[in-house]
Amino acid sequence: MAETELLAATAAETAALIEGGQVSREECLSAWLERTAADDLNGYLWRADAESAVGTVDQDAGGPIAGVPLAIKDIFCTAGVPTTAASKILEGYRPPYDATAVARLASAGVPMLGKTNMDEFAMGSSNENSAYGPALNPWDRSRVPGGSSGGSAAVVAAGLAPWALGTDTGGSVRQPAAFCGVVGLKPTYGSISRYGMIAFASSLDQCGPITQDVTDAAMLLARLEGRDEMDSTSTGIEGGVVLPLAEDLKGLKFGIPADLVDEGVDPGVKAVFDRTVERIETLGGKVEMIELPHAKHGISAYYVLAPAEASTNLSRYDGVRYGQRASDKDLGSMYEDTRGDYFGPEVKRRIMLGTYALSSGYYDAYYGRAQRVRTKIVHDFDAAFSKVDFVITPTSSSVAFGLGEKTSDPLTMYMADLFTVPMSLAGIPAISIPAGMAAPEGGGEGAGGDMPVGFQIAAPAFGEQKLLEASFALEKAIDFDGGGGRI
Ligand code: GLN
Repeated sequence: MAETELLAATAAETAALIEGGQVSREECLSAWLERTAADDLNGYLWRADAESAVGTVDQDAGGPIAGVPLAIKDIFCTAGVPTTAASKILEGYRPPYDATAVARLASAGVPMLGKTNMDEFAMGSSNENSAYGPALNPWDRSRVPGGSSGGSAAVVAAGLAPWALGTDTGGSVRQPAAFCGVVGLKPTYGSISRYGMIAFASSLDQCGPITQDVTDAAMLLARLEGRDEMDSTSTGIEGGVVLPLAEDLKGLKFGIPADLVDEGVDPGVKAVFDRTVERIETLGGKVEMIELPHAKHGISAYYVLAPAEASTNLSRYDGVRYGQRASDKDLGSMYEDTRGDYFGPEVKRRIMLGTYALSSGYYDAYYGRAQRVRTKIVHDFDAAFSKVDFVITPTSSSVAFGLGEKTSDPLTMYMADLFTVPMSLAGIPAISIPAGMAAPEGGGEGAGGDMPVGFQIAAPAFGEQKLLEASFALEKAIDFDGGGGRI
């Protein structure tokens, strides 16, 4: 078969081509490995070769996704393969084992194309906090791909991988998916094992698929979810998800959290959102206004809780156990120099914020209060889901912004997660699907064309199947053309 046809296929279509004998697993892998060499977006931090791509893969595995290669965010431990979390402190680190998510896919016969760029330790919304330079948005290289899973979103949108793994702590799968015009799913907290996923904020971190369409997201999730005895927060629900087939939204209710969505959305994004709401109604869904009164405080709570957890999680990088060591002076200076020299500025900012928030005397004023806000947000969603099946918002208030546009102002950057953080705090599943195109506000430099806009749908905990069915029906109606992202 023609190689161009293979490289344009979704993961599900690729699986069907392999299954039907039109292409062998070896041909498929070698075409994709060759294709990754076209990456001029800094999307990959490391690219596999024919041997390393199948390192721990069960090449005899049968099943629906065997042979469909995958790009993996560089936050997942991969046995014998560089794993840096885009930090200098982990340069040269080669883990002795695979993360459970990676191991599950390897045992399903999925080869690895490479490790993708990201914000250092997943802290960021633009990929500009990578110690190895940002990945670029394939729709317009003067713009960010979003973050922190920006490399994964960029390579899928650019056609440099059929699909990818990302992680989402406050929006890092959904927001880059929105910025790059692809699908990003953050499943319910605990539904995919976090074992071997380098920790940022453990009560929020979740692995999620970044794919060309909703069907691919379902296919990947089906292999990833389930109990893992190596992660005590993982749940026992396995193989629950099947491929979505819904054609309409009859009988389903969608709630718009008016107070949250009113917080300032760019007009172009708002227009796409409104059009998508009309589509929901055309498909038979009912849309109503709901309240999530505390959701707008999500960002404030998140930026206490996530740095607090990060400050403890990152204490393990001490120059003794992993990666780089700055000097061999006395122990105290060795710790200080290692952390001082090899952590980037945003990581240091978070460690300082988190350490302060947890210090005695301030603990209750910051951490305790943020936890109480989190509980209120959980209750807000409970109340909302007693009225509607789904909560809908734009994924982000703007399209992809320009490189450097927000780097000098961390607070504006933090606001990029306004619509995605509440779902993370509540631990519920949420998906971003591409819904249309809009002109960037303020123009900016570069190609100057319209950029993709994401539409976010959230469901109650473990409501993935319903969420995927609704997204599938809506995706069909939207019929988004991702061609502009291909390089
Ligand atoms: N942008 C958010 C942050 O910087 C979310 C990151 C993430 O989800 N990993 O914390």
